[in-house]
Amino acid sequence: MIEDIKEVLVDNKKIEARCEELGKEISKDYQGRLPILVGLLKGSVPFMAELIKHITIQVETEYMVVSSYGGGITSSGEIQIINDLTISPQGRDIIIVEDIVDSGLTLDTIIKLLKYRGASSVEVACLLSKPDARKVEVDVKYLGFDIKNEFVVGFGLDYDQLYRNLPFVGILKEEIYKK
Ligand code: 5GP
Repeated sequence: MIEDIKEVLVDNKKIEARCEELGKEISKDYQGRLPILVGLLKGSVPFMAELIKHITIQVETEYMVVSSYGGGITSSGEIQIINDLTISPQGRDIIIVEDIVDSGLTLDTIIKLLKYRGASSVEVACLLSKPDARKVEVDVKYLGFDIKNEFVVGFGLDYDQLYRNLPFVGILKEEIYKK
């Protein structure tokens, strides 16, 4: 698996250190409240796991299965909710936990949906952002890292459902796409 990687963009040490900082910030900002962290599956799993280790206040965790990419490396632009929350967001403080913000369409849709359903606040924690790829503006309050506009894999991010288990974020060699 590792031999398919051309370049490591964010190594595991950096990810862990940044998650610790973000966890502390969230703990401070939500002191005295009980937020729900809503992870968007499947990509947010490693980020969610690393982040919550560093949150020192009580939180609830929920997940949604959202699909935006068809399996290749280009976005379909359509967002489908395949599995929804198990509880109502009405009157609750929500922190959406996401792997990457690219065009912004996924997060924009989910933020609007949760607000429409009566959440009292909706913020975003996102491991990666590609600012140059944005089609709609999204306010990411808790951001891990800005990266260049390239397709990345690892730490939850897949290519055709593979590479999610890499402990770092990297770029695949071109020949992998051409197989
Ligand atoms: P957006 O709606 O912001 O365009 O895209 C968000 C979703 O697209 C992410 O949750 C992720 O599933 C997928 N995505 C965007 N950029 C990348 C990338 O560089 N690598 C991978 N593996 N998925 C990406």
